[in-house]
Order: sequence, then structure tokens, then C-alpha cells
Amino acid sequence: MRRLVFLGLILSCFVSGGVAAQLESKTKPDVPLEKWTGKTIMLIGAHADDDAISHGTLAMFQAHGNQVYVVTLTTGNVGTQDPKLSRTQLAEIRRTEELAALAELGIPGSHYINLGYDDGLLEFEDRKAVVENLVRLIRKMRPDVLMAWDPGKNYQRWHKSDHRAAAYLAADAARAAMWRLLFEGQITQEGLKEFMIPEYLFYNDYDFADENVWVDISEYVEKTVNAGAKYTSQFGPGWKEYKANPSEAEVKEMKDMMRKWIRMKDGKPIEGFRYYSGLPDGLGK
Ligand SMILES: [Zn+2]
Repeated sequence: MRRLVFLGLILSCFVSGGVAAQLESKTKPDVPLEKWTGKTIMLIGAHADDDAISHGTLAMFQAHGNQVYVVTLTTGNVGTQDPKLSRTQLAEIRRTEELAALAELGIPGSHYINLGYDDGLLEFEDRKAVVENLVRLIRKMRPDVLMAWDPGKNYQRWHKSDHRAAAYLAADAARAAMWRLLFEGQITQEGLKEFMIPEYLFYNDYDFADENVWVDISEYVEKTVNAGAKYTSQFGPGWKEYKANPSEAEVKEMKDMMRKWIRMKDGKPIEGFRYYSGLPDGLGK
């Protein structure tokens, strides 16, 4: 018994040491992103293709032995200019395209999770229910890293509707997941445990002022281009008139567009993020 008490004391010291380390917030990773391996990385986005901003980085994480999961909040069942498509058809198309894009990056289809909310209306959903669903996923998967739309740093960042909702929902879920008494039923009834996500990579699509880490995606440009070209209903000619099987010329047009969208820094193709580690409470500071 005494040995057990002693062991308990040692363990509690380790745990408090770990928590103390986690309390310290950082804006630079201890290990460069290129060296990350063995991590579980969860990306939360609003639409199938929100992850496209980070495809080179996701391909690198996957190639380096990390487990990448993509969580999409809506089915993407609204965003088209094709008058012939129904919501149901569009949702199915978006799922097929997302799985095809992830396959190009080496990410298995079982790592794509869609929570099924309606496109364009995310901020009008029951926020508590959405956060609860995300908290459940976080507590199940226990990600080392959360990637999400940047909710802002010392201010509220403007994104278009679903993106700003997704930014806040992801941040709120990260915060709620660590509190044992929030959504307690998940713990008392579902066998889950509270969990604090230690590291964050926030992405943006137009304002890159807060970026503090950049990934050289030179080795992953082709995968990024090929994955991006799978979103036939979102980019290129399929936006106005969807085609399941675009022509060779149309695929080339999409690939050229993807290549043009890749950002360059110091002569290298890059993707950039705002890195943060520490308590979720501080992720906007
Ligand atoms: Zn989007």
C-alpha cells in the first residue's frame, strides 16, 4: 500500500510537471513541422475543400508517419452555380471529391469525418450541439495538433459565414474538451476522458499577417495539385456545369489553376500557419 501511495505521488508530480509545461504558451514549435512524426493531427473545416489550403502540409504529415484526420462540419450541399444539382446530389459529389483529394495525399477515407450540417447555415446551428459533437471527437481521437480556421489573435477575424463559425466552434470545442465537468455525460456514460489539445496550427485564405510558421511543400506540390484538381464541382468548369468526368483539357485547366494558387516565399512553394501551443484559453492571445 505504501508503495502504491509513493508511486501515486511520483505520478502526480509527473502529471503536474506536464501541466506546468503545457501552461506555458508558445508561438514557435519546439520541433519544426517538417520533423513531426507519430502525431495525431485533426483538421476541422466547414466545407469539403477547406483543407485544400493545407494540402501540401497534410501530405507531408501523412508521409512522415503522422495520423491525419479531416473533420468537415457541413456537407457542402449549397455552393454551386449549376441549376440542375439538388442538395442531395451536391452533398454526395462533395464527399466523393473530398475522398478522392485525400487519397491523392495518402490520407485514408476512414480518416474523413463529416458531421452533416447544412452548407451556408453553420452559424445558425445549435452551437451547444455542434461543440458537443466536436468535443466528443476530440476526446475520442485525442489529437496532438488541431488545425482550424484562425479565430483571430487579440481580435475577431472576419471570415465568410461558415468559415467564421467553424473557427469559433473549433476553438470553443478545444477549450471545452479539457473540462471534465463540461459535457460530463461523455465521461460518465461513454467512457471518454477529458483532453487538452496541446498544439494548434491556424490557417487563413486571404490574410496571412499573423503567420509564424511556414512549411516548404516543394516535395508535395504534385500531390497538392492533383488533390486540388479533384474538386471538380468547386473549381474550374464544373462550378457552372458539373461533370463527373471532366475532359483532359478541363483537368489540365484545373491543375494549372491549383499550381497558380500555391504561395511562394523566398523562391519556394509554401503553406503558412499561425502556430500556438498552450492552454486553449490563450489561443487568441
Ligand atoms: Zn469553405
